[in-house]
Amino acid sequence: MVEKQTALTVALEQLKIAAQKLKLDRGLEDMLANPKRSLIVSITVKMDDGSIRVFSGCRVQHWDARGPFKGGIRYHPNVTLDEVTALSMWMTWKCAVVDIPYGGAKGGVCCNPKEMSKGELERLTRRYTSLLFDFIGPYRDVPAPDVYTDAQTMAWIMDTYSQIRGYSVPECVTGKPLSIGGSEGRSEATSFGVVICAREAAKQQRLKLKGATVAVQGYGNVGWNAAKIAYDMGCKIVAVSDSMGGIYSPKGLDPYDVSKHKAKTGSVVDYKETESITNKEILETKCDILIPAALENQITKTNADKIKAKIVSEGANGPTTPEADKILHENGIVLIPDILANSGGVATSYFEWVQNLTREHWTLEDVNRKLETKMVKAFNDVHKVSANEKSDMRTAALMLGVGRVAEAIKTLGLWP
Ligand code: NAD
Repeated sequence: MVEKQTALTVALEQLKIAAQKLKLDRGLEDMLANPKRSLIVSITVKMDDGSIRVFSGCRVQHWDARGPFKGGIRYHPNVTLDEVTALSMWMTWKCAVVDIPYGGAKGGVCCNPKEMSKGELERLTRRYTSLLFDFIGPYRDVPAPDVYTDAQTMAWIMDTYSQIRGYSVPECVTGKPLSIGGSEGRSEATSFGVVICAREAAKQQRLKLKGATVAVQGYGNVGWNAAKIAYDMGCKIVAVSDSMGGIYSPKGLDPYDVSKHKAKTGSVVDYKETESITNKEILETKCDILIPAALENQITKTNADKIKAKIVSEGANGPTTPEADKILHENGIVLIPDILANSGGVATSYFEWVQNLTREHWTLEDVNRKLETKMVKAFNDVHKVSANEKSDMRTAALMLGVGRVAEAIKTLGLWP
């Protein structure tokens, strides 16, 4: 029987590949394959109609050998503990690859935010925060936004945490609005990193960024900002999509105008003078740069052979399976893996945390300059390992991330 690939089977397979390459001790590999702590909570919410509903949520804290736990919170109807565990593991490697002093964590609540009012979402968020209270905090575990959570969600978390503590604790969460200690550039940071990595890979491929064609799957925070930043850098955006479907225009799209259309209609679909395509077709679009920025398991062994892009820069976490990685590599496609490509988000979250702890506020220019330096360094670090090991960028990034975390665990030693 063929085992179904899930985010967790993919994450564990990736760890195994890195552990073998690094010749990690078996016990250490076992430690890294299991999160340090997984907390499951039942979140009771009074709905607008007066009824009570119970939502299931969790927070998984993977490893904190390099610093406090850090990771996003996802609201989605298909959230599972396994998925959140995989995402927490990727966070651990990601923080190590981009070299910031954090360990990996992730949270999830099984709910459908599209069917909930703002008041219901606020009550859900506050109750969830209260249930996690003893396990999160500025030196313990610092949440951030992920799928279907945003700056407002983070503001509710900060307020709930601060109300229980009895004083304002802006450093307990990142991705906040600017008015309460958010960082300049945080909302675009993940996408900025995704595009900077694509730019660095394009340089190596001698591909001009100006006029390069780009397709983006997912038009949420990461997807829309990536389309906007790539467009501003001179790329031609030929296709974008969201959960309702996709649009294609060989002439090129203006992402700002597409975003207005989405704000008005709820989707990118039916944007003027475009051809409708499916979310499957957008991945197979003829383009130079493909940015998957929606969910996991999008590029698999069934469609990897049909990918026509020269560069894939992973905005989403886990969009490509290990079998697909192999196929893309054999086909000469450069894949910049999630734990490198989308690490700009957590790097800027780290900048936000530092600003909050020191009660400073940096300018957008400062943040973007620091972020660009970090991203280019991380890209070059991974590229160096990839050249030395003659491996694809995913294996190289995993070796770098897993290797740094394993080194930290070995240095700390095992207590008791
Ligand atoms: P978001 O909620 O803002 O947007 C998600 C987008 O994906 C929406 O446009 C939605 O319509 C689309 N989508 C949902 N299901 C889809 C499907 N089946 N096919 C195609 N599109 C679909 O979320 P986001 O913050 O942009 O996160 C997107 C991805 O990026 C996730 O994998 C997330 O883990 C990852 N990521 C986000 C950040 C961040 O800073 N927000 C950082 C690192 C990684």
